[in-house]
Parts: sequence; C-alpha cells; structure tokens
Amino acid sequence: MTQRAAALLATLSLLACGATDRPSEGATGADSGSPRTAAPAGATRGAPGIGDPDFPLDGNGGYDVAHYALKIGYVPESKHLDGEATIRATATQSLSRFNLDLRGFEVSGVSVDGAAAAFSREGDELSVTPARPLARGAAFAVKVTYSGVPRPVRGSSNLGSYGFIPTGDGAFVACEPNGARTWFPANDHPADKATFDFEITVPAGVTVLANGELVSREPAAGGGTTFTWRESHPMVTYLATATMGEFQLREGRTPGGIRNLAAVDPRFAGELGDLYTRSGQITDHWVTVFGPYPFSSTGGVVDDFSAGYALENQTKPMYGGFRPDQSIIAHELAHQWFGNSLSIERWEDLWLNEGFATYAEWLWTEHTGGDTADERFRAGHDRPAGDPIWSYPPGDARPDDLFNESVYLRGAMTLHALREKIGDDTFFRLLKTWTAEHEHGSVTTEEFTALAERLSGKQLDSLFDAWLFQPRRPAA
Ligand SMILES: [Zn+2]
Repeated sequence: MTQRAAALLATLSLLACGATDRPSEGATGADSGSPRTAAPAGATRGAPGIGDPDFPLDGNGGYDVAHYALKIGYVPESKHLDGEATIRATATQSLSRFNLDLRGFEVSGVSVDGAAAAFSREGDELSVTPARPLARGAAFAVKVTYSGVPRPVRGSSNLGSYGFIPTGDGAFVACEPNGARTWFPANDHPADKATFDFEITVPAGVTVLANGELVSREPAAGGGTTFTWRESHPMVTYLATATMGEFQLREGRTPGGIRNLAAVDPRFAGELGDLYTRSGQITDHWVTVFGPYPFSSTGGVVDDFSAGYALENQTKPMYGGFRPDQSIIAHELAHQWFGNSLSIERWEDLWLNEGFATYAEWLWTEHTGGDTADERFRAGHDRPAGDPIWSYPPGDARPDDLFNESVYLRGAMTLHALREKIGDDTFFRLLKTWTAEHEHGSVTTEEFTALAERLSGKQLDSLFDAWLFQPRRPAA
C-alpha cells in the first residue's frame, strides 16, 4: 500500500466521521431453526477472532480456509450485489459452531456440506451452527447466500475508505486491512490464505478485473456478461479484488516472458502504454533481485476513483485515481513478493511488507540513475530527533495507525542498516533466500531476523532492536 495526498485523506476522514457507520445488528437469520443435535464431547465453538491481539475480531478460530468460490452479480446503477460464496475449509478443532466475517448485507441462507445451517449476526460476525458438529480435521464446505448494497469502510484512521466501493461505472475494490468482508463472507485476516474463483456477472459494457487469470467471459443467461477469474496461488483476503467498470486493456508478456495485463479507466487512457511497459520492466527487474515471480501474471489497474492510495492487489496492483509514477509501481510490484507471496501472520509485522516495498523504491531509483539507497537512508536518518518516525517503532505497527510513515521509512532504513552490517553479497542472498523459503507462505519478524543471523553468521539482536523496537533514533 502506498498513500498519496495524506492531507486530503485526513480531510476526507474528518468529513466522513459523522456518517452512520455502526455495524448492523439485524440478525436476519434466526436461531429458531437451530438443530438440536448435541455436540459430541469436546465439540466447541470456534473463536470469533483468529488470534491477532491488535485486531481481536478479525478472522476466526477453529478452521482453515482452502478455497473461496465467489458467485456475484452486481448492478452499478442500483449498487445491488447478489452473492453466493462457497468456502472450502478444514476444521482445526472439533466444531459445534464457527464464525465468518461479513459486514452488512441480508443473509438469506447458510448451508454446511449441503445441509441447512442455523446462523446469527452480531456486528461483522456471522455465526454458523452446522446441523451436525464438525470433527477435528474434517474438510467441509460452507455456502452463504447474501444480498444488498455493499457498505465499504469509510473514515477509518488507517486507509480512509476501503473495501468494495461503488463507483459511477462499477466498483473500486481494495480491502487492506480488513475490507474483504464488505463483499464476501471470509476468514478476514492475512493469517489464513486461500485460492479463489470469481464468477462475476455485470451489465453489458462493464469489465471485471479480479485476481489471477481470466478463465472465461461469456454472455450471462439473464443478460449482461459473466467474467470468470481464477487465482490459483494462495492469497490473503485483503488482496482480493473484483474491480469493475469501463476499462481499456493492454495484454501481452513482459520482455522476460511473464503475462502482463494493464487496465485503465478511460479518463487515464493516456497512461495505458506507460503502465503496461513500466510494470513489465519493473517486474522483470525484481525477478533478478528478489527471485522468481511468485504468480502467473503481473500488471496494474488505474481506476478513476480518487482513493488517494495504491494497493498491491495480488497480480493486479491498483492505483486509485492518479497516474502512478515509477516509484509507486516499483513499490506495488515489490509487494508481489513481500506481502503477497510472503504474507504477515500478525499486523504488528507490517514492516515486513511496507519496509521492504519502500526499500524497493530506493533500489529502483538507484537502478535508474537517481539517488542511491544510501542517500535515501542518510536523508531519513538526518531527520531531527523529534521527528515522529523516531517515537514510533515500526516493528510494532499500531492497530489504529498501521500505515504510519515509520512503518515504511524506518522499515526501509532497517533494511539498509542491515545491508551495511552484513554486506551486499549476504544482503541480496538473504532477500532471495527469504522469498524462496517462504514462497506462498506466512512470515514473522522473528523468522526474518533468524534467517539474517543464519546467513550472515552475525549476532543482530541489537541492530533489529534499535531499528524496529525502540522509540528513539538509532545511531547510524
Ligand atoms: Zn505498500
């Protein structure tokens, strides 16, 4: 994620604060149909959160999702969404009941393995009681049918507006940190990655851009067009997108042979060629620095919704209402390795995404003849002792201020300090080893520091402690 125009965002957030933004309380599904099957001894309720202390109700406990199959119909004119989500998962404990995260919508039915299940709603929690408890280790499929007008998150202290955001010609869909629930029921936390199928029907003339590859594009039975996209690599929920509207497309391959798709709203028609060429060139360069490209395609999308930020949606970074410069493209594409292939398990480790992507901006600028990474580091370190980045330790990203500048800048400076300490050869070997050892997996700061110590043979506790965890400026 990259924020632009922070002042504008702040203004928008203030304006939005008065908006009604309370979680829905309407329990649309009654518990009255609740099966009376007694749970076997030991079957318990899955936790309403996945265990991230900073976001206690994000994600859920008791199961692990393998795949989301999302069938969605959306009409931009009425902003009405009809959804049917089938989620394949495995129970990690014996489960009498479990939760999904879903914000708004009317839920008209839930089934587990084909049998109607009882359900109830409270805030963003959709609680599901299967007709029969699920045994630990059992694979199951839960299907949720829902509809309504999506309610994106607005005025948050983190990203301003995010989630499924209706636009004049479709929708802008960017969900970090927890906006997947604004368009489908999910285990909405990056600790649970899954593959995705998207089958999305829209009126004629609307293009749908979801993650991964386009499988088919066909006339829908009731009119309009159905776009089927498939992301066959594991993905965290906040990277899922189905951005839709009027788009101009350019498709092909990067010089290095990776599939490349650029798409722009007609308002940005003049940027299409540049976006396509730059995205391809930068992706190919990152392959030489970070290792093999982890996904089946690269590219980018410029929509006309003025989000004020870019988000690294898997395979399709999205730029919200502005012309992306090389630096932002370099940032979002670096995230395909750092954040997307290697995902954080807890939000406090966000510097593993943003510090790396910011450092990638420096590497790209240096590669193209601009300031060197060392110059960028010095400029950062020259900030006065009272600068806010020194009092915000980036290794403990705060839940109400996740995207603080420190997580980006001081995170990148951490990597540069490490590079100086262990030398270029070891540092760049570390980056490639890191991406290879954890490809399509989940990572923690402890795992990164342990690998840096293993490859360098150096004791690095004090370096990481000073840069990531102390509320003061480290010595350079
Ligand atoms: Zn970022």
